[in-house]
Amino acid sequence: MSGTCLLCRAPVTRRTVQRHAEGCLRSSGWPVGKKPSFLIRVQDRYNKSYWLVVLARHDARLSDLDCLIRDVWVECCGHLSAFTIGGETYTSGDDIGDDMAVPLDRLLLPGSSFDYEYDFGTTTELELKVIGAAPVAPPEGPLCLIVRNDPLPIACETCGNRADFRLLDYSKGASGSFFCRECITSADPDLESAEIIENSPRSGVCGYAEDPVAAIRWYPPGWSAEDIVPEDLQEMLGIASQSDLEDDLLPAEDQMSDAEVRSMMDAVDSDIGEEVARFIGEEQAAHGEIFASMAEETVLSFCTFLYGLYRRDIRKWDAPVVRRCLLEEMVQNPIFPDEWPKNAVPILCRFLAHMSAAGRLQNAAELIGALKGAEPVFRKAATSPEKYHDLSRRLLERARDEGVDVKDRNSMLDFILREVTAMAGMDPDAEEYLGELKEMVLGNAAVLDIEHLRAEMILLRCEEFCSRLEDDTILDWCAALVKDLTAHPAPPLSRGDGVLWSAAIVYAACRDAGLIRRARGGSPLAQEISTFFDVRLSSIRNKVSGLKQYLPDTPGEDD
Ligand SMILES: [Zn+2]
Ligand SMILES: [Zn+2]
Ligand SMILES: [Zn+2]
Repeated sequence: MSGTCLLCRAPVTRRTVQRHAEGCLRSSGWPVGKKPSFLIRVQDRYNKSYWLVVLARHDARLSDLDCLIRDVWVECCGHLSAFTIGGETYTSGDDIGDDMAVPLDRLLLPGSSFDYEYDFGTTTELELKVIGAAPVAPPEGPLCLIVRNDPLPIACETCGNRADFRLLDYSKGASGSFFCRECITSADPDLESAEIIENSPRSGVCGYAEDPVAAIRWYPPGWSAEDIVPEDLQEMLGIASQSDLEDDLLPAEDQMSDAEVRSMMDAVDSDIGEEVARFIGEEQAAHGEIFASMAEETVLSFCTFLYGLYRRDIRKWDAPVVRRCLLEEMVQNPIFPDEWPKNAVPILCRFLAHMSAAGRLQNAAELIGALKGAEPVFRKAATSPEKYHDLSRRLLERARDEGVDVKDRNSMLDFILREVTAMAGMDPDAEEYLGELKEMVLGNAAVLDIEHLRAEMILLRCEEFCSRLEDDTILDWCAALVKDLTAHPAPPLSRGDGVLWSAAIVYAACRDAGLIRRARGGSPLAQEISTFFDVRLSSIRNKVSGLKQYLPDTPGEDD
């Protein structure tokens, strides 16, 4: 039942925590917020020994709280989650900024109780309650973890001291047996089935493993990951250091030689290459060039993983293997166009249907069912913010590993562009496209961050649309808009769907040029933009009206 105040490191109990926390926060020297912050207690519904207290700024969003809970306690494979507050359910969405984008002070009052669920399969159920308020706000970010329960006292089976490890023995049921660091080696000399006992209500559930590096982001200043899970325990298990873990996240392709990858691709090509090509042709006819190249990348890497990595030709594909390929291999694609996560599964399903119609697949319906079932998890995992976050750093590390002179702009840029074409679903063989991209990036002083590349991609798509117009007036407008948006301190272009940004920018430019007028039945040009970018007109209009706040005052921005 006891916990530790993460500000002063004093022991606290559930009974004393409110008074202690309010007092400790008063003397913390943390900034006073515009409005009081919430003190929220989070506890497991069934085992109340697991509990946390979080300080939440009044305008922290549900999604922030979701993020904290995941990082500190529950995240295993990117399952969905939901809060239930006053009979209303707020689910973690496919797109950031969905249901959970609501600020807490719109939902909570002093004393409010609410619920949280993570993973609707093997669910972790939590109860939350506003137990107090504080005038101060967290020093960094919207939330800060300020109290956490101490690790549960579990005794070593051999010596009775505090256990550090759980030994999984499926023949003895799910809970396993527990040992301290001294006794574990006699029970399991190679530590093959030992796990560190997690301080989490999700301990032992699904693929859960405590992630101290993720959790530490929510701690007050002065704590390190080592304080949460001692490094020596991790070393005993041979758990890789953080940098090794990052290497594991790279796609399998990167760890293979080019020759190996080529021979894997040859195997696909000689068996089903013709059908794949026919499918890409159909995609191009139905959805246009951009989608065709995305479809090609998606289908080829899917088949290459299955043929090469899993040694399964199309006759041996079954539901578990395609699901695994999607969730373990495809999901790791480190760089992709924004529209890829939501299109990857539909593309693969169309591909499977195509192969079935071509008589190459007997069980297409079953495979399609498996992919569709796995799609929510896939989309969530493929777009997890950590992935974006790590991207630049990872690229930098890889560049160093490969001996690229990272201080030299040109060689670094070449490296990144090479990586991008190798790994992404962008058009792989359009040399001039890459050349153009490179020229643009080089022509600009601020280079070499992914956000910048992203802005360039957004503008390139605008350009593709504008090529149908008589002159460059609209394109110049688009360029000016992209420039303004990039200059904004909140860089709005770095978030959200890139294609939708392109569409909104073209739309705003056309409207400002007087080409889109309010008309019964809609403006034909607006319709054309919607069709070209394959985005609903209402979404474009929403995005356009959201644009205003990022732009310097412009006359005529009144609708
Ligand atoms: Zn304290
Ligand atoms: Zn899981
Ligand atoms: Zn022991």
